[in-house]
Amino acid sequence: MVDATWGTGEPPRDVLGPVAGPAAFDDDHPPRADLVADCVHCGFCLPACPTYALWGAEADSPRGRIYLMNEGLNGEPLSDSMVAHFDRCLGCMSCVTACPSGVKYDRLIEDTRAQVERRHTRSPRDRALRSAIFAVFPYRRRLRLLRGPLKAYQMSGLGNVITPLLERLSPTLATLESLAPRLRRVPPPPRRVAARGPRRAVVGMLTGCVQGAFFPEVNSATVRVLAAEGCDVLIPPSQGCCGALSVHNGRKQEARRFARKLIDTFERTGMDYFVVNAAGCGSSLKEYDVLLADDPAYAARAAAFTAKVRDLAELLHDLGPVAERHPLPLTIGYHDACHLGHAQGVRRQPRSLLNGIPELKLREIADPEICCGSAGIWNILNPVPAAELGDRKATNVLATGADLLVTANPGCLMQVASAIRRQGGTIALAHTAQVLDASIRNLGPSFL
Ligand code: SF4
Ligand code: SF4
Repeated sequence: MVDATWGTGEPPRDVLGPVAGPAAFDDDHPPRADLVADCVHCGFCLPACPTYALWGAEADSPRGRIYLMNEGLNGEPLSDSMVAHFDRCLGCMSCVTACPSGVKYDRLIEDTRAQVERRHTRSPRDRALRSAIFAVFPYRRRLRLLRGPLKAYQMSGLGNVITPLLERLSPTLATLESLAPRLRRVPPPPRRVAARGPRRAVVGMLTGCVQGAFFPEVNSATVRVLAAEGCDVLIPPSQGCCGALSVHNGRKQEARRFARKLIDTFERTGMDYFVVNAAGCGSSLKEYDVLLADDPAYAARAAAFTAKVRDLAELLHDLGPVAERHPLPLTIGYHDACHLGHAQGVRRQPRSLLNGIPELKLREIADPEICCGSAGIWNILNPVPAAELGDRKATNVLATGADLLVTANPGCLMQVASAIRRQGGTIALAHTAQVLDASIRNLGPSFL
């Protein structure tokens, strides 16, 4: 634990205890000491941090974690306790938004996590779980293989028997089971879709792993909206994972492999923009220049690629609407995915697009800065606190009285849907693209 005097002006005591061993970090991109020093210990970030809200412990706050990074830089070993406090960080970047000193916590935790993954020996159970996750999640084809058994399971009604058992035996498996979305069959998108009307841009589109396998209807809505707004859409079927899950979990080499392959796939397509409809993917794509900065063959190409990356809402907002919007008499709650709101600063654009739909009313959700607990794979690795955060979010969502919850990340959709079901509530859920698509195609509110 970190000393309670940390941030009060008194010199902190080393309360991690005497742990022998090599210093926490080696010379391969440790958390940068100058960025650590930017923290003035004011504590403004604490109320915005979900793990501080859960546990009220300094070491589980942004300021406490920065203190631990500093301890590591000063030679403290990478103890199990230190790693636990880093692991508990959701990477939601709410603290980055809240910090008046502009501390780059995002860079700090990313570098710290890479050090932890290389230098810390995890328990056999943790290693096995992480290996299983990373053997499946970044691979759309492997995820798609799960669709058949999952659909059969959902239709069998076995969930009534198995869910309570899993809840007792394994919170991790219970979480995976509860997160699984209702699957819809959608044909894969063509390689190229032409703009309707005069062409205003050529965009490459990321189909994503989880989005592509479990939410193909979001991708098809995205393609239709882009085409309706005058974009030629390029969707090479050979595209792979963007590496977001890997980079957010300290697996930088793996993330670099994915990034290089994605750049190879798209850079000669002639695209003006690279559009992303999943917040977590978009935030890491916008940092390919940092991820590949040390790679002489890719650094400049990654910088050129990064400059073209846009979140879907960002691009549509900048282009301005040309397709007619038809009324959607609905009340919606808009949930800011952390990697869209905090990490990319995209809050205004989706609201503006949604407010442009006639008869649609938008309601704000209380405590919008606090994460829903999804955070990539955090909810699988930390099922119990993730469920608590999910329940808080679900309560705030249901309190809006909205008919529909709209967000821009597949992880959030699954996490909030699961928490709302747990509370016995009902609310339809949709991606921003699906709402725009329903309005442009005049499908009416019952479609959503
Ligand atoms: S990224 Fe989120 S969970 Fe991590 S320290 Fe910042 S606010 Fe807390
Ligand atoms: S708000 Fe910024 S400067 Fe203040 S304690 Fe948090 S990270 Fe440090």
